[in-house]
Amino acid sequence: MLEKLTPDEKKKQIAYRDARTSKAYDKIWQSVGKCVFCDLNTSYIINEENGIVMTVALYAYIDGHIMIIPRRHIRSVKELTPEEWETMRKFMYLAKKLIREAHKVKGMQIIQKDGIPAQSTVEHLHFHCIPFDSPDLAVWNYRKLSYTPLENVTLYKKLGPKMAKLSKRYGRKYGNN
Ligand SMILES: [Zn+2]
Repeated sequence: MLEKLTPDEKKKQIAYRDARTSKAYDKIWQSVGKCVFCDLNTSYIINEENGIVMTVALYAYIDGHIMIIPRRHIRSVKELTPEEWETMRKFMYLAKKLIREAHKVKGMQIIQKDGIPAQSTVEHLHFHCIPFDSPDLAVWNYRKLSYTPLENVTLYKKLGPKMAKLSKRYGRKYGNN
């Protein structure tokens, strides 16, 4: 696939491919200075419907890494319209099938990082669809826990009234009725 490219284009493609493992990504990231997901490169888009884009990840974690991104610069799933959400749902299904066809990997991990500490500099909603054939990309650094399941459920259930309030607020701000 790369033979048809000019030497410069070929170099660029290889730089994208190797950025994660060569640590080049960390530097690139700090110098972007704009929303990369508002400015998606058409050459890498696989599919688009109803304002939702399916694209390859430029800085893939693993071969076959796909991303699903709304065109609108929104921060969270709660801001998606029902049509956008429905299209995302469909694209997750399609991504899994495409990964299976193209890369012979049957599993897929979906990652969406929510909240400022998780999102680093990107505040534009995006889902990673990552081929999953072994757990090497999903090793959790398990921590020593302070809470048992029973203590945890008690903590959350105590927030019942708060949840009811938030639920109402969600309906007002983001609901369909
Ligand atoms: Zn954006």
